[in-house]
Amino acid sequence: TETGFQNEAIDFDPPAVAPERDLMSKFDGLIAERQALIDTGVTDPFAIVMEQVKSPTEAVIAGRDTILLGTYNYMGMTFDPDVIAAGKQALDDFGSGTNGSRMLNGTFHDHIAVEQALRDFYAVSGAIVFSTGYMANLGMISTLAGKGEYVILDADSHASIYDGCQQGNAEIVRFRHNSVEDLDKRLGRLPKEPAKLVVLEGVYSMLGDVAPLKEMVAVAKQHGAMVLSDEAHSMGFFGPHGRGVYEDQGLGDQVDFIVGTFSKSVGTVGGFCVSNHPKFEAIRLACRAYIFTASLPPSVVATAAASIRKLMHADQKRAQLWENARALHGNLKAMGFKLGTDTPESAIIAVILDDQQQAVTMWQLLLDAGLYVNMARPPATPAGTFLLRCSLCAEHTADQIVRVTEMFRVAGQAVGAIG
Ligand code: PMP
Repeated sequence: TETGFQNEAIDFDPPAVAPERDLMSKFDGLIAERQALIDTGVTDPFAIVMEQVKSPTEAVIAGRDTILLGTYNYMGMTFDPDVIAAGKQALDDFGSGTNGSRMLNGTFHDHIAVEQALRDFYAVSGAIVFSTGYMANLGMISTLAGKGEYVILDADSHASIYDGCQQGNAEIVRFRHNSVEDLDKRLGRLPKEPAKLVVLEGVYSMLGDVAPLKEMVAVAKQHGAMVLSDEAHSMGFFGPHGRGVYEDQGLGDQVDFIVGTFSKSVGTVGGFCVSNHPKFEAIRLACRAYIFTASLPPSVVATAAASIRKLMHADQKRAQLWENARALHGNLKAMGFKLGTDTPESAIIAVILDDQQQAVTMWQLLLDAGLYVNMARPPATPAGTFLLRCSLCAEHTADQIVRVTEMFRVAGQAVGAIG
């Protein structure tokens, strides 16, 4: 034939040379665990559907009006009229998607506008937007630290930081969570010559605790390491300009790279890295997570740009968010709940339960009463803990905080978490 295809030469039913192995069988344990949980009669905590979203703090779940206390909508920007208008305009003007990488056809007017909004928000010379915060960490860490170099990270780092380490070729060193002493010790053991990147987070999202960034950055600099701080859970309400924990702790330009996300305070989706490094733009030429994926839709970057510009002047919301966090933390602590932090350090308040059974039962009681919080469990949580994680929003009202407190009191007593 023209193609040289020889029908007779192909054996369409060759004898097996080895038994087929089912690649899916490794998930049997997970499937059984999930089934056992559902068999206890609870709603699957990882299959919640928001049937209707009425505001940043209210949704309809399973037909019931529910207060949202487990989203990362810290600044309540998702229903901001200016943000929505910007998204609609971009959808009308530029269509629903970009159909390409930032590097080729996927950079539109609003991708440039949102990077400029980030430069203005952070007062830096460089800003690069990624398709998610996960990809910002994945791309930045794997691209910055190469073969023979070192990444030094907190043991409780977010999965995207760990995955960034795995994707790259650098040597990986972990230090004890938030321990300045251990960071110093680990850095001291490394050879002096190779370049090093210390990766920190401003707020750790499981317990809501804040890093001693000031001391850690000082230690990193003593050892000649550069620093990347993930400020995902602090943008908008830490520091005089809402830039994050690093700003709050007076670190200004001492942190070399800041990673952030649009999926929390900004209220849409996307990720970014900002920096004052004079060669920062080179990341666009080398970073696989930036190059080999489609850019964000125009409506998404337009909403992000509008939101970021409003966050620059959101002092009122910032103050309200802190007031809400302090109020709920105080109420839960006074009732005797075991919390992730002794004082309200961030907008995340983690209620620590004894075990999965207690956590799931209480989570269900809260949901039935009309309150959604996050169920968090190992491996996402540190030290095998089961958490009901609350995250406050600037838009929560005093009345909602009172109702939430009462729901926690009733459910907490029912499962024996409090007396
Ligand atoms: N970093 C941290 C600390 C996070 O908590 C998250 C998401 N929860 C991310 C990065 C990833 O952000 P995104 O949702 O934009 O992928």
